[in-house]
Amino acid sequence: MIWISFKPLSPESRTAPPTCTRCEKRPSIYYRPYSGERLCSSCFTESIKERVQRTIARFEMFEHDSRIAVGVSGGKDSLNLLHILAEIERDYPRAELIAISIDEGIYDYRDEALEYARRACRILGIEHLVLSFKELFGLTLDEIVDKTAGGELKPCTYCGVLRRRALNMAAKIVEADRLATAHTLDDMAQTALLNIMRGDLRLLASSHPSGRSLPGFVRRVKPYCEVPERESALLAYLKGIEFQSFPCPYAEEAMRSDIRRFLNQMEAKRPGTLFIIYRASVELASRLGGGSEPLGVCSLCGEPTSGDICRVCKLLRKIGATDKWGSSTISI
Ligand code: SF4
Ligand SMILES: [Zn+2]
Ligand SMILES: [Zn+2]
Repeated sequence: MIWISFKPLSPESRTAPPTCTRCEKRPSIYYRPYSGERLCSSCFTESIKERVQRTIARFEMFEHDSRIAVGVSGGKDSLNLLHILAEIERDYPRAELIAISIDEGIYDYRDEALEYARRACRILGIEHLVLSFKELFGLTLDEIVDKTAGGELKPCTYCGVLRRRALNMAAKIVEADRLATAHTLDDMAQTALLNIMRGDLRLLASSHPSGRSLPGFVRRVKPYCEVPERESALLAYLKGIEFQSFPCPYAEEAMRSDIRRFLNQMEAKRPGTLFIIYRASVELASRLGGGSEPLGVCSLCGEPTSGDICRVCKLLRKIGATDKWGSSTISI
């Protein structure tokens, strides 16, 4: 019997593991504070898969014959999502899964993560495309950081914008009609508060888990968006999934970290806070209508944009690197 002391346990469960409230047979290993459930290992694992299935159904994320590109970073969340989608896909023979990974070029960090991603794809028998910043944009993130040291923009700003573009390009290369990313419940709640605190209603409006079909973009969906991060960690542990656990060397102590700390405290005091914020943000995104439409194409790279020049080209131009990238001829 595995008895995982994965805090918080309910007070009465500190001496002996109470029985699972789902199967009413096996001893529980996890107390879920926001629902009051006590779950055994197999009911816990099953409950996460069911939650992902419900999220997919509620937001009508996939068709029966969808070709789904899954963004896999090599961290616990994306590897868990890949395993769950592979399991679900077995019931949909006309659907296809392809893993896509982006190598930003972060020395001594991304290589290990990509190895975990490759290993998982081999085990699951899933095609895997890896694209790098270097081959797409002519520079690694390390090189960009060297060029921009001391500037007003941080590595995560470049990384976030370029990775978003790279994922869309990779999804187009593998001819996917959906791009699934492993944003967790914590990510969703943090992003919602971040967008409100920055007064960015456009981003708030475009953060709906079901994404939108826009010309030039593969529809981005977030089937993992109702899974709390701590449950994602437990799931990886229970399933024996190997993942990269040390943080990116460029991870900043930025506003998101403050929000993460605040939300973790609130969740510990008032279980369910993350869900409340997430649901409110989904409702707001629906009412706001999904954000602005890209009106045309970028005059430098030809990708869709709402202005004359897209954000990627603006950033690359800022560091004098627009000549190094153009249309990609990379294929799987
Ligand atoms: S922490 Fe920042 S730089 Fe590192 S992978 Fe994430 S977004 Fe990129
Ligand atoms: Zn059970
Ligand atoms: Zn552009």
